Amino acid sequence: MCADEISSRARQIHFSSLVFDAHADTPQRLFFDQFDLANRDAEGCVDIPRLREGGVGAIFFALWVPVEITGRAATQRARGLLDAVLKQIEIHSDALALCVSSKEVMSAQAKNRIAILLGIEGGHAIDNDLEILRKFQAQGVRYMTLTHNAATEWADSSNDAPRHNGLTDFGKQVIREMNRLGMLVDISHVSDSTFYDVLDTSRAPVIASHSCCRALCDAPRNLDDAMIKALASRGGVIHVTFHDGFLSQEYANANRALASEIASHEKEVGQKFGDNEARNLMGLQRLSNESIRAGKLPQVSWEKIIDHIDHAAGIAGLDHVGVGSDFDGAFMPSGMEDASKFPFITEGLIKRGYGETDIRNILGENTLRVMAEAEEVGHLLNSEKP
Ligand SMILES: [Zn+2]
Repeated sequence: MCADEISSRARQIHFSSLVFDAHADTPQRLFFDQFDLANRDAEGCVDIPRLREGGVGAIFFALWVPVEITGRAATQRARGLLDAVLKQIEIHSDALALCVSSKEVMSAQAKNRIAILLGIEGGHAIDNDLEILRKFQAQGVRYMTLTHNAATEWADSSNDAPRHNGLTDFGKQVIREMNRLGMLVDISHVSDSTFYDVLDTSRAPVIASHSCCRALCDAPRNLDDAMIKALASRGGVIHVTFHDGFLSQEYANANRALASEIASHEKEVGQKFGDNEARNLMGLQRLSNESIRAGKLPQVSWEKIIDHIDHAAGIAGLDHVGVGSDFDGAFMPSGMEDASKFPFITEGLIKRGYGETDIRNILGENTLRVMAEAEEVGHLLNSEKP
């Protein structure tokens, strides 16, 4: 598909909406490769020219810390990523604005600046210390994905054997402190039991920043219908993600069959690029693309994203669905290779019969609202304090 295929109605709606991407891994590129966001670079998915082309007005940059990095080193990695993002915002202050509240997102939008927001991905980055969490919040971090693909010392992950059967008591303290700080709790990557513990503990609505629907693709990282319903019933938002392996059952199955080939390639890539996570990921993306070309993996169409949005909206209601691409952190479906392709989401929703208000909500207003609600809970909890 090419940009000409976007209807004028889709353009009109898309480019007058707040498009809010709840999750991208671009900081890895800024940190390891000193990538300059002003450069349009086909190797990655996100840069200023393509955010503009895609009409993206706000984006959460994930400060992702691999699970192998623990203790103080995990905190340091997250800080390094954060500094790399702040540096880019400073250099490109004409185009970008660091935003730490829903109001700031709106004012950036009014000034035609792209709102950059910070989220930590992997709760091990706080090294079991609420003071570190508070420092990150003071530096602008507004959500934390509680785990990545392994359990932390206080929360279980969907990709790891259960260690705590959900959240530990300290884990619950983390949630309460995040509530007080007005930070969004992100349940993408956590185990099902952690998810339910979070819902029982959190005073504010929570988000899945980048997760799909398990009913359409049975991956432990995706949410089943009961979870989507529970998340929405407490005001939360599921942000559908674009990763092939979470969108498509066929891809996930074929990928499982290639597990040993992928593992050996992963080792090879790791030896070549060391801890440069941006390069490691690109190496694995290349393998995925080669495997698709060789017919070993199916090609996934971007329209699967619409299938997942549609399914989630059917369960959660239209006010509880958003988008979280995972650009620069995952394998993108055909037709949604980078941020410039975002208008196709609007086009796809129009074709499925979605109305203008619902489309605006899915594109970004729901995310903005849930942020504002978390801020409100923070104010309330602080005013309750003696
Ligand atoms: Zn992730």
